[in-house]
Amino acid sequence: MACQSLEEIGDPDSIARAQGIRNMVSGELRKGFDMKIKTNLSKEEREILRKIGEDETIIICPADKGKAIVIEDKENYIQKMYQQIEEGDYTKATKSEKTLLDGIHQKLVAQLKSMGLTDFKQRRPYLVTAPVMANMYLLIKVHKENFPGRAVVSQIDDPTYQICKELTRILNPLDEAGDSYIKDSFHLKDMLKEIEIDEFCRLASLDIKSLYPKVPVKKALECVREALQADTTLKDRTDWAIDDIMKLLEICIETHFKTIDGYIYTQTDGMPIGKSISGPIAGIYLHWFERTYIFNGTCEFKPHFWKRMRDDIIIVWKQGDVEFDRFYWYLMGIEPRIKFTMEREKNGILPFMDIHIRREDKRLVTKVYRKETHTNRYLNWRSNHSKSFLLGIIKGQIHRAHYLCDLKEDLMEELSFLRDVFVMNSYPLKLVTEVINKSWEKETKKSILREQPISTKDKAKKSEYYDILHVPYIQGFTENLQKKLRRFNVGMVPKKGDTIKRAICHLKQEIPRMQQKNRVYKFDCADCKKWYIGETGQKMESRKYQHQNDVKNGKKTNAFFVHLETHNTHSIRWQEVVYLENEEDWKKRKIKEALIINAMEPTQIMNLEKGMEINQCWNEFNPNIRNIVQKKEKS
Ligand SMILES: [Zn+2]
Repeated sequence: MACQSLEEIGDPDSIARAQGIRNMVSGELRKGFDMKIKTNLSKEEREILRKIGEDETIIICPADKGKAIVIEDKENYIQKMYQQIEEGDYTKATKSEKTLLDGIHQKLVAQLKSMGLTDFKQRRPYLVTAPVMANMYLLIKVHKENFPGRAVVSQIDDPTYQICKELTRILNPLDEAGDSYIKDSFHLKDMLKEIEIDEFCRLASLDIKSLYPKVPVKKALECVREALQADTTLKDRTDWAIDDIMKLLEICIETHFKTIDGYIYTQTDGMPIGKSISGPIAGIYLHWFERTYIFNGTCEFKPHFWKRMRDDIIIVWKQGDVEFDRFYWYLMGIEPRIKFTMEREKNGILPFMDIHIRREDKRLVTKVYRKETHTNRYLNWRSNHSKSFLLGIIKGQIHRAHYLCDLKEDLMEELSFLRDVFVMNSYPLKLVTEVINKSWEKETKKSILREQPISTKDKAKKSEYYDILHVPYIQGFTENLQKKLRRFNVGMVPKKGDTIKRAICHLKQEIPRMQQKNRVYKFDCADCKKWYIGETGQKMESRKYQHQNDVKNGKKTNAFFVHLETHNTHSIRWQEVVYLENEEDWKKRKIKEALIINAMEPTQIMNLEKGMEINQCWNEFNPNIRNIVQKKEKS
């Protein structure tokens, strides 16, 4: 794709460069074609995983925190899910899945049209082709008694998925500009450094119970409107009018989802879990809440320090214990939907996010905090990832240790703990020790640099690349290609590979074959075995009907019609579609389709056109492509 867009520039230099990249990549590919993606599981282990995955009486799902995988009895799981539904603002939907999805889609199209996006091409980035209904599933809270569930709703490919992304981009800065905003634990650590305390100070954390579904929608939207009106930089992010943004938000908030046993529910209040807009909207609402009830000058309670990371708040209190209790009850009485759980410091210690905070004299001393349920599992050294990526993980952890630990003894303890953990994850001891030893000098340099204004060097480095390739990681091959591509100013990012979690956690309902979309597919003739190869972003079912209609209407540009017209005793095997590729990106799908058509003998296929032009240098891989296609046909 990088090559194509280079050629579209059109000047001889770019065209030559494109060809250079092509020749290099195809050469590397030739060398690397027989290399296999590495797996760190034995055949027996894979067999056991397959059997667990097929058991119908259990559900395998991720734990709420700490990277563990939970196996739960299916009946229990469903019961826990309905408990969540009963506690929230949900009612059973009265309309069908299709009616509900079409309804939202049409509202969205009408709104975009009214904003002047009259051409389909203008609307396309904000719409989802062949949308699907959201699914509710549970994460199990392994650190709480009786292992309750936390509801998650997967909204990927919901009709509003794309427009939500755009609205989130517009709203995020309003949340980030709020007084109580914590970006991450490093940001919080910097703020904690500045606090002076005395013996009467109290530390506590507050947690807002199931925040997103409890945000009062009507009030929250009013807050968003006010924040947009007060935002002087809005014009830099969008040309859209505030009224239009608000109408789009209302369309996006309408949420329906399916349960694991197939029922559809509609959310009647609160922000949908799993939609990207819920984050900034809840944030903007809470900033209003804090300004109105806590930071306002007439409020008798004045927390000395109050900062918030989504639904977690950290407080330093200086007005005494009795007042602290009263303050808590005051908070609980403000808005019936917003409820807090308070955790007070114990023996002068308060864990918050991943920071262990301890009072020591007149200041707060910190170190790294880990929940007991943390599995201490990181990507295994022997897993299928580039070594530089795996090194990045340990370096990140070590950096965090240096940043968050104030006292040398805490840091030493943390580093020795990290050494054990990474050795347990199969990292070579010698390497781990070396990285840790080198970290001292590096971190000192970094902390000096932090005092100075942030250099733009890092940013420039990223944007230097002309394009970035995403490919699966293959040991030995990937490193080479990466090095050579860098010379052409093309970056490379390894794609996420298969994990055990991905292999056995199937929480989303399987989509029936003909309802699947984004495929390169083939149909064949029942009598002469000729193939038709096509690609579609729509659901396969709709694409099939279009073909069948074209045949019925005698459309001369349809390959099936032409084939059946010249061979009038032949018939197409419509009931048997074979999927050759699964690709969301339209342009990549077109390229994959063309590569396959190009690899076939012309007598083998009934396609009338070859599709996108394919560069000759790929021809030598045609036998390999034919092999891959043959394997797909059999499976
Ligand atoms: Zn035929």
